[in-house]
Amino acid sequence: MTMIRIVRGDITTLEVDAIVNAANNALLGGGGVDGAIHRAAGAELLAFNRSLGGCPTGEARLSPGFKLPAKWIIHTVGPVWHGGEQGEAQLLASCYRNSFKLALEHDVSSIAFPSISTGVYGFPKEQAADIALAVMREYESRFETIIACVFSEQDEALYLQKMKVSND
Ligand code: ADP
Repeated sequence: MTMIRIVRGDITTLEVDAIVNAANNALLGGGGVDGAIHRAAGAELLAFNRSLGGCPTGEARLSPGFKLPAKWIIHTVGPVWHGGEQGEAQLLASCYRNSFKLALEHDVSSIAFPSISTGVYGFPKEQAADIALAVMREYESRFETIIACVFSEQDEALYLQKMKVSND
């Protein structure tokens, strides 16, 4: 059975088949985890992503990992939080689902996700963790390892608590 693991740290260092990027619609880099991934993967990533022509919110696109330990990067575009009445929850769930679907098409068996939309896009962290973990459970049986990569101690505590609740 798959383990959903919580790992705190920099997602760019993880030795998995694919890491997921919380990108923006242009796919040409930005702040937060997106910036860290572009820096670590190298300039070839930007050149490659120019050929992708952007990505709508809720969808996902694949690139090689270039200089990363990960073979692939799955770029998905999370919703900006506008108060919750603009389909944000469904769009965030679509990010996770479409990332998993793309991963399955490329024989990925280990995958790591950041907390999509919970940085500058402002999605409430608790609701975002519920959505992330629910979709991870949907796909759990089809992967060897699914990592929820958290960056802050606060996010780590939140995910640990959610995992504990759902395992009890
Ligand atoms: P978004 O624009 O989707 O909100 P951000 O990059 O601003 O994306 O934030 C998403 C999450 O990624 C936040 O929880 C942030 O703390 C986290 N994060 C930032 N840098 C990294 C990194 N190098 N590895 C993993 N997570 C990161």
